[in-house]
This record gives sequence, structure tokens and C-alpha cells, in this order.
Amino acid sequence: MIKITRKDVIYQMSAENPPAAKVDSGETVVFETYDCYQGQLLPEGNTFKNVDRRFGNPATGPVFVNGAMPGDMLKITVEKLELGPVGILDIGPNSGALKEYFDEVSINRIHVKDGVLKYDERLQIKAEPMIGVIGNAPAEESVSTMTPKDHGGNMDCTKICEGAKLYLPVFVEGALLALGDFHAIMGEGEVGNCGVEIEGEATLKLDVVHDMKFTFPLIENEEQWITVAYGETLDEAAAKASKQMFQFLKEQFGLNNVDAGMLIDMLGNLIVCQIVNPMKTVRMEIPKWAIAKLSGN
Ligand code: CA
Ligand code: CA
Repeated sequence: MIKITRKDVIYQMSAENPPAAKVDSGETVVFETYDCYQGQLLPEGNTFKNVDRRFGNPATGPVFVNGAMPGDMLKITVEKLELGPVGILDIGPNSGALKEYFDEVSINRIHVKDGVLKYDERLQIKAEPMIGVIGNAPAEESVSTMTPKDHGGNMDCTKICEGAKLYLPVFVEGALLALGDFHAIMGEGEVGNCGVEIEGEATLKLDVVHDMKFTFPLIENEEQWITVAYGETLDEAAAKASKQMFQFLKEQFGLNNVDAGMLIDMLGNLIVCQIVNPMKTVRMEIPKWAIAKLSGN
């Protein structure tokens, strides 16, 4: 199995990035990732004074997938997500919705063992590992790994987890997939600026899909189809996630306008992914069973 190590790290998703490896459609690839601070806060005693911001949100890759051409989608099946032993949680006056309540930054190095996070002696939480940053290269100008857009990127969507299938539009030949910024757990909205930021390893099966032509990210899991949209504001991202789901229901499943709209009214859940990145992300979730009833497949 091909393994992409942390030696191949990028901070911009770009068509100009040289591939770390070339793989065929259908191959399974292991990506070893840094946490979003590139490990700089892991040593006890280190603070943000020790953090070089140039190394923020590193993504491992990119991987060139043979046969992926602009207009295709890359289907990424998350077969396994493994976490490192320590995650970083921080809160302070510099970012997030609660910043006015803090005079200084607090850092908690959270140990993860056997899938359980230890906040402190009082609170232990079952890990729910997710991939924060995952994207193909955008079509033209490069995009920072801090930013989510239609190529994917820093979406911080909790549904990009083990067992999920993520579909990302391909904008350049080979797709050039890269990922990083895992969270051991994260509340919806990423309100205080971060999740439990952690290094790890993802095992992903990569398939080029020629017969889905959507130009925005989609997620499929056992129960749901999900659109993930970005915007300057939550309003913009929310409208976009809804419209993209409407388009998806019509084009993928042949629903008419009324059925697609009413299905969204009844069962479409609009959920804030994050409010702290340079673009906000919002997703819409629809249960598959109801789509199947209305579409007959
Ligand atoms: Ca993130
Ligand atoms: Ca993060």
C-alpha cells in the first residue's frame, strides 16, 4: 500500500504543487498527517510564542490520481482514521466567538488512549475522529489550507469521518488530493476556534467518478447524503448548501422541483460546520431512505 508521509506537506492547495505520488483509480493510500500547528505545541511548556504561523494547517500530499480529469469527481472512501497520542485544545483572546471572555491563551494537551480523550480527571470523552482539511487543487489561483471552497479544503465537517464517502470535484488533471488537520473531537460550529487538534493517519480509497458532475463537495454515509457549502457569511453558506442539495436531488435522483423543495422542508437539516475560518461552512443533510421513496431508487 502506498504511504504518503509528513515529509510531503503543503500550505496551499494549488495546481502547481508537484505530486508526492501518482496512484491509479481504485487504489488505497495511507496519509500521515500533522496536527494544525505542525506539532509545535506538543512539547510541554510550548506556547503560541513557539508557533511559527507559516506552518499553520499543513496538509499532506498532494496525490495525483491517474485518469482524474476536470469535470470528474474524486470519490474518497475513509476506510480508517487513526489518531496520535496527544491532541491540542486551546482557547483565548485572539479568535473564536468567545474571545472577549479571555485575557490569555489556555492550552490543554489532551491524551487519547484506546479511543477515549481525557480532558481532565473529571471528564473523559469518546473520540470521534474527523478530517478538518481535505481538498483537491482548485482550478486557477491557489487557495490556503486555512480556507474552504468548492475544492474542499478547510471544511471542518464532522461528517468527514471513518466510513464516509466524500466526493470532491476535480479541477485539474490528477485531482491533486491533500489532507490534514484531524480533530479527535469537535463541537458543531468549532465555536472557540478549534477542535482537539491532532496528528494521525488516514487510510483512503480513491476512485475517479466520471458520471457525477457536481462542482461542490458531497458526502455520503450509510444514512445520508450531505452537501457542504462555503460563504463569506453563514447566511450565504446556508443558502448555498440548500441550493446545492436542491440541485443534487434533481440531477442525481430525478426529483422535480416540488418534491425536492418539500423534501428539504420536511427532512433537510442545515448544520453549521464552522464559524472561524476565512470562509464559513454549512452543510445540509438529507436521509437516503426518503430520497429512495420519492425517486424509486
Ligand atoms: Ca480546520
Ligand atoms: Ca483544526
